[in-house]
Amino acid sequence: MSDQLRFDGQTVVVTGAGGGLGKAYALFFGARGANVVVNDLGGSFKGEGASSKAADVVVDEIKQAGGKAVANYDSVENGEAVIDTAIKAFGRIDVLLNNAGILRDVSFKNMTDADWDLIMKVHVTGAYKCARAAWPHFRKQKYGRVINTASAAGLFGSFGQCNYSAAKLAQVGFTETLAKEGIKYNILCNVIAPIAASRMTETVMPPDVLEVLKPDWVVPLVAVLVHPSNKTETGSIFEVGGGHMAKLRWERSNGALLKADSTFTPESLLAKWDDVNDFSKPQYASGPADFMGLLEESKKLDSNP
Ligand code: NAD
Repeated sequence: MSDQLRFDGQTVVVTGAGGGLGKAYALFFGARGANVVVNDLGGSFKGEGASSKAADVVVDEIKQAGGKAVANYDSVENGEAVIDTAIKAFGRIDVLLNNAGILRDVSFKNMTDADWDLIMKVHVTGAYKCARAAWPHFRKQKYGRVINTASAAGLFGSFGQCNYSAAKLAQVGFTETLAKEGIKYNILCNVIAPIAASRMTETVMPPDVLEVLKPDWVVPLVAVLVHPSNKTETGSIFEVGGGHMAKLRWERSNGALLKADSTFTPESLLAKWDDVNDFSKPQYASGPADFMGLLEESKKLDSNP
């Protein structure tokens, strides 16, 4: 089919590609002509242990279907080694899918430093290290596409997942800034909050729900975002799963604006509390600059009654 979105000649690095969503991405890009780096540490979903098997199985599957793939078994914390595998095997990197992840679910009361630190290392440091190692290549060739992986747990909170929630919302800020820094070099970065049946979710969702949440149904959005035909979509947040895709954005209430002088007190703020909470005239903030504009308005106000 001539109108297929193809990735011939491009190199796509997929982290955590030994199972779940990463495997679905790797198989797809392998079938669409890309050189694929299948990275996976091969440990448990709690981040224990390591094995080369998870990545090897996916590489074999891609090759048997006629595609090109190599394995990398490093932890994403060692991003230089992950990206180096792409450069050594294929001489370039075009797309980075930061997907690897683990869970250490526990209520905040019982959370240990080890639970917190490991989640930060894999999700936050891992995404940073891989992107940091890919960045000079992207800049030099004036082309790069990055997908980072957030979660509804990060966007909205989720009982027993405060470490994971913090790490996942970090992906949003990370992506929004990379998008701003990358645009000049045609490096486009977006973040997805997927939902899919995988070993991560199989114990927390009923079988009939898992049935409609194939990892394959997350792939089309990722493919569209990282394809060369996407020239403008960057810095965006998407929810995706089970055939549903939607974009999210920050919404600011119209808010209260008080004269910032000695009449600005907790009591004067309380008198305006309904305005702070009023979303009937929403604003869609996109950066610190538009907030500074509001402060200019406050200079014109009279002192608070
Ligand atoms: P999964 O456990 O099937 O896949 C994650 C993969 O990452 C595993 O193969 C694992 O071995 C690998 N991995 C873990 N730590 C690694 C490390 N340090 N270095 C390299 N590889 C490592 O889970 P999944 O559901 O496919 O999750 C993929 C991503 O999507 C994760 O970032 C997850 O947090 C996110 N996510 C998934 C869902 C969902 O509904 N499945 C929801 C929200 C977010």
